[in-house]
Amino acid sequence: MTASQKKHDLKDAKYIKYVDRFQIDKGTINRKKKVQRIVSTAVVLLCVAFLIFGGFNLVGANTYAYVLTVNGDEIATMASEGEAQSAIDNYINQLSDKTGMKLSYDDHVQIDKISADGVVYASTADAAKALDGKMNIMADAVGVYIDGKISMYVADEDTARNAVAKVKDYYSADAGKSLISVNVLEKIAVSTTQVALDKVLDENSAVNMLMYGSAGNHYYHVADSGCTLADVADANKIEAAQLSKLNPALTSGELPLGTAVVLTNFDPLISVQVAKEVVENKDLAYKTETIDNAKLARGTENVVTKGVNGKEEVTSKVLETNGVVVSSTRLSGKTLEKPVDQVVERGVKIVVASRGNSSSGILGWPLAGNITSRFGARSLGYHTGIDIDGEVGDTVVAAESGTVIFAQYDGNYGNLIKIDHGGGLATWYAHLSKYYVSVGDEVQRGDSIGSVGVTGRTTGSHLHFEVRINDDAYNPLNYLD
Ligand SMILES: [Zn+2]
Repeated sequence: MTASQKKHDLKDAKYIKYVDRFQIDKGTINRKKKVQRIVSTAVVLLCVAFLIFGGFNLVGANTYAYVLTVNGDEIATMASEGEAQSAIDNYINQLSDKTGMKLSYDDHVQIDKISADGVVYASTADAAKALDGKMNIMADAVGVYIDGKISMYVADEDTARNAVAKVKDYYSADAGKSLISVNVLEKIAVSTTQVALDKVLDENSAVNMLMYGSAGNHYYHVADSGCTLADVADANKIEAAQLSKLNPALTSGELPLGTAVVLTNFDPLISVQVAKEVVENKDLAYKTETIDNAKLARGTENVVTKGVNGKEEVTSKVLETNGVVVSSTRLSGKTLEKPVDQVVERGVKIVVASRGNSSSGILGWPLAGNITSRFGARSLGYHTGIDIDGEVGDTVVAAESGTVIFAQYDGNYGNLIKIDHGGGLATWYAHLSKYYVSVGDEVQRGDSIGSVGVTGRTTGSHLHFEVRINDDAYNPLNYLD
C-alpha cells in the first residue's frame, strides 16, 4: 500500500461512516438491518476500525472510483463521473423545488478518478445530502428596496407583497370595524437580482425583518427587586406603551426577579400607519354656578346642589404608527346623560371686623411692609387709605378675590387698580408702576395685580391702599387680617 493509497483509504473510511449511518437509517441493506438493535455509533466505530486495519472487504467490483470534491472539500466517492455530476444536479434540483427559485452555483467542482479496491460507493441521493451546506448557491430572487435602500431579499414579488400585507394586518387587525385606513409610510419597490441563497428570506422571516429590523428579538432579565415594566422601558429607551404591547402577560407593578421581558431593539424597516374611528363613553364634567347671598357672611360657601358628572359618547380619529398612538382628534360628541350643575351659594355680607374688637379681619395684606401713613386726619388733609412702604417693582397682590373694575391713571392716585369683591366691598391700589391685570379680569386673593411705583401725587415709592364699602372709605386696618 503506497502512501497516497493509504490517504485515500482513510478518506474513504471517513466517508463510509456516512454511508453506514444513512444505510442504517434507511434500512436498505439486510446486513445492516440485523445490527439495528445495536447502537449505531458502535457499528460505525467497528466498521471504521475494520477498515483501518484492512480486515474488512467491502462491496464493489470496480477498480476505479470517482471522488467528488467541492471547493477543496471531499464530498463523496462515486461509481462514475456521471453519477457525481448527477449528485450535484439532484442537490440543486431538490433545493430549487424546496425554495421555488431558479438556482445556480458558483463553486469549484472537481471529480477525480482514483483506483479503489473495496470501496463502498455513495449513492447519488447520499452524495446530494452530503453536498448540503458545501456549495455557494445563487438564487434568482428579488431585492426589496425601502425608500430607495436595499433592505432584504425574498424569492419573488409575491413574497414581498405578502410579507408587507401581513405586517399591515398585524397592526390593523384590532381595529375591526373602526378601521379607516392602513398605510405604509415608506416607498417599497422590488427588483430582480441574483443573490446568495442563504441571504433570501422566507415570508415569515421577511415579516420579522420588516417589523423589527435586523436587531431581532432581545430580552431583558429582571435582576433588581422593585423593577417595573416602566423602569425596563426607561432603561432601554423604549416607549412604555410599546413594551406593554410586546409583553401582554406582564402587568404593571413589580416584576418578579428573573422575568424575561421581550425588548426587541426595534429598528422597523417600515412604518405602518393605522387610522381608526374610536367611539368611547367619557364623563361630561359638571359646571359650578356661584350665587351671591347677601345674607351670608363673606367667606362662607354652601353647596346648594351637588354637581354630578354626565356621560357622553365621544367619537375620535386615532392615528397609530406601528401600534403606538401618535394622535387622537375628537370628531364629535353625543350627550348620553346631562351633567347636573353644582350650585354654590357664596356669602357676600360685609362683616365689619376690627382688630382687637370682635372677629378677625377678612382681607389679606396687599404688600408686606411698614405702614408709613395711617388712615384718617393728617396735616395734609384726610387720608382715605393707608400707605405701605415698598420699593419700585415690589409685587402687589389682591387683598381678596374679585373682579378688576378699574386699571388706569387717575390724577393724585397715579396708576390705580380697583377690585370689586361684591356686596359693595372694593379695594383700591394706588401709585403703581405696573399693571398685571386689566378691567374685567377675575382675580383670586393673593394674585399678583401690579407693582409698587411712584406715579401720581407721592413723595416716595409706596402702596396707597384703600378699603371702600359702597364707595365710602373705611380704615383698612379694620379689615386686614
Ligand atoms: Zn396714601
